[in-house]
Amino acid sequence: MAWRRQGTLARVELAEVVSPGSLVEPDGRYLADLMGRGVQGSADAVVLPATTDEVAAVMRWCYEHDVPLTARGGGTGLAGGAIPVEGGVVLGFERLNKIRQFDPLLWRMHVEAGVTTGDVQRLARESGLRFPPDPGAAETSQIGGNIACNAGGPHAFKYGVTGNWVTGIEAVIPPGEIVRIGGSIRKDVASYDVKSLLVGSEGTLGLVTAAWLRLTPAPELELPVIGLYRDADAGISAIERVLASGVVPATIEYMDEVTLRYSGDTYPFGIPADGAFMVMTEADGAVSEARRVATELQEALAEDAVAVHAPEDPAEVAELWRWRGGVAFAILAQRGGAFSEDIAVPLDRLRDVARETLEIGARHDIPALSFGHAGDGNIHSTFLFAPDDPEQERRADAACQELFELALRLGGTVTGEHGIGWLKRGQLEHQLGAAGYDLHLRIKHAFDPKGLLNPGKKR
Ligand SMILES: Cc1cc2nc3c(=O)[nH]c(=O)nc-3n(C[C@H](O)[C@H](O)[C@H](O)COP(=O)(O)OP(=O)(O)OC[C@H]3O[C@@H](n4cnc5c(N)ncnc54)[C@H](O)[C@@H]3O)c2cc1C
Repeated sequence: MAWRRQGTLARVELAEVVSPGSLVEPDGRYLADLMGRGVQGSADAVVLPATTDEVAAVMRWCYEHDVPLTARGGGTGLAGGAIPVEGGVVLGFERLNKIRQFDPLLWRMHVEAGVTTGDVQRLARESGLRFPPDPGAAETSQIGGNIACNAGGPHAFKYGVTGNWVTGIEAVIPPGEIVRIGGSIRKDVASYDVKSLLVGSEGTLGLVTAAWLRLTPAPELELPVIGLYRDADAGISAIERVLASGVVPATIEYMDEVTLRYSGDTYPFGIPADGAFMVMTEADGAVSEARRVATELQEALAEDAVAVHAPEDPAEVAELWRWRGGVAFAILAQRGGAFSEDIAVPLDRLRDVARETLEIGARHDIPALSFGHAGDGNIHSTFLFAPDDPEQERRADAACQELFELALRLGGTVTGEHGIGWLKRGQLEHQLGAAGYDLHLRIKHAFDPKGLLNPGKKR
């Protein structure tokens, strides 16, 4: 078989440029991510380098031999970004996982790309600090993957997304050069903002091998305040009141009626019978500040609410966040399959997203719901299907396509978190227009003239 010979040859030649332990069999776990469309790529070789020099050697080999090169972090991506759709070499970062330096007194950490998000968060916390980006799969996702997707999470409302916490990037760029942009400096306007180009580039411009991260003192107190409403209209009005009040919560999430139907059983404080829409906020900061903000949040959320919950016991607060973390899984459990997208819209269009998501689901005759990071206008509109029913799955996919159109019609973006990846291929041109898309392609060409880095993605 031609593929096997090519694969064997690739592995033999790569074995000459990397250390013996760095080459592994190209088995299934390196060929898919969590996108959930049953797409599996193929690879001639999987390399797990332990040093930046090895990453550079692999890229040089790929560039010399015109072989595609796909970066893989924790594989938790939801857009197919890490799937090697055009074969070639998969480069996994799991062995490039050292903390190079941690200066708690200077609020900074220098880590290799394969360190998990959870490890960075824990290490910071042990020294009274916080790495605020909190994407949901933190125990598996890696800092390199977070940077490549510019990952967010519930607390992005107050603290921003991953890119806001990156002061420098070490990367390998074609044809195999190691570059360092920024570093352990908090300000830098010397060059074009190349760091920000690499952030969110989904492995299509360069391979992130290490990052300098900014940290912040951990809040002394975190006080969630949750409002429950009769319907989406009342709930979204409550979000608007919170924003208009000028108070700054750490997070503003919403869960619509269908989401609560599927996940409400385990909500720790009980959903009242007429509670059909939840707004979840959190006050944080120094003790007095968190209390002041929590009081103001309670006032803003109370109007028209059927219940307001404001747990203070740390165990209850932890339970609440465990519940929030499990919402996506409770939804998935309903039918076994769920396509959960991540459009973002201007805040004055939240109402349209909540309503039109349900309408799209009805048009395609599948259950639909929405929940997510309402304060950022970044909503996980979700369509459910039974995995053993291909027709239902096709309808769920068609609903997603309609959702992307909705996002653009509302002046939003097809992706606020997960990236374009492979899943949303073709959407970028619609969103950017011809001239904007041409600029996008020219940037790609400037970094990767042979188009070998993660081909088929972010287009
Ligand atoms: C349960 C669950 C909850 C989630 N919640 C959130 C959320 O709240 N917010 C959010 O933003 N996302 C969320 N995600 C999506 C996902 O976890 C994030 O996109 C995460 O940043 C992906 O990191 P990863 O290491 O798993 O990357 P992968 O999936 O391995 O790769 C993602 C992309 O990054 C590229 N890449 C990976 N590593 C590198 C590197 N070192 N250099 C260059 N390119 C690289 C890959 O080629 C690919 O294009 C969630 C996913 C799950 C399963």
